[in-house]
Amino acid sequence: MAKVPEDHTSTGPTIGGLVREFTARFESAGLDSPRLDARILVAHVLGFEPSHVFLKSDEILDADTRRDAELPAERRLAHEPVSRIIGTREFWGLEFALTPETLDPRPDTETLVSAALELKPHFNNAPIRILDLGTGTGCLLLAILSEWPSATGLGMDISDGAVAAARANADRLGIAPRAEFRTGNWADGLADTFDMVVSNPPYIAEEERSYLSAEVAEFDPPAALFGGVDGLAAYRAMLPSARRVMAPDGRLIIEIGSEQAPAVTELLGPAGFKVEAQKKDLAHIVRCLVARPG
Ligand code: GLN
Repeated sequence: MAKVPEDHTSTGPTIGGLVREFTARFESAGLDSPRLDARILVAHVLGFEPSHVFLKSDEILDADTRRDAELPAERRLAHEPVSRIIGTREFWGLEFALTPETLDPRPDTETLVSAALELKPHFNNAPIRILDLGTGTGCLLLAILSEWPSATGLGMDISDGAVAAARANADRLGIAPRAEFRTGNWADGLADTFDMVVSNPPYIAEEERSYLSAEVAEFDPPAALFGGVDGLAAYRAMLPSARRVMAPDGRLIIEIGSEQAPAVTELLGPAGFKVEAQKKDLAHIVRCLVARPG
């Protein structure tokens, strides 16, 4: 690519100009982070890291690249999240591929990874066996396994597509030998026992559907979002089977929606669990309950 004299005001045909053009279009559409989104999408089309956009800002774009960049921009203007357009999301410093059947991993869910790793002393750092219910991309199980090299795990999901995605992520991350994935309804039908059961189930109440952003409502799979009329249906369905497969001194680590701690705690008791700890996310919202059989 040839160099041209610097011009920081015009829109195209340089890389920087295209970033400015996309930023302006995203801004007028009211998107949340127009500049960042523009930079990531342009870098994605060009096949380099977003941080390199500044270095290459004055390089001329060829017509083909300019044309290739238009579809991702239009997808973003239709409120598709950047992660879905580029096909990956970073979680716990690891890269996870997304598919239409998987929830886009949220930073809040890293609270559960921390809670799981805090249990290393409880388990004497042993080669524990972990079950992830509703595994989606596999992010929760795989992030924990990445930090617990002796542990192994099984991820279950009701969606075949999600199971395939989780398997592919395990492969890409080099964790496949320790992570198995199967299609199924929560822990139903499993005969083995597990030292740790983790889950980020769907917990949004149906009536909250209209408050969701288009990015979530139109692009995350509904089965991964909604937990029935009151948002608690998945806990009711899952907890008894999770209890059945739990080792006597095992631990359950589940994600909850904001303000669901009292309601989910009430469901845990009759299902045979006793809450041991509550963990807050970075916004100081109780996001995770740790429970033991009891
Ligand atoms: N935490 C996600 C959200 O608030 C929802 C995913 C879920 O229900 N587990 O958008």
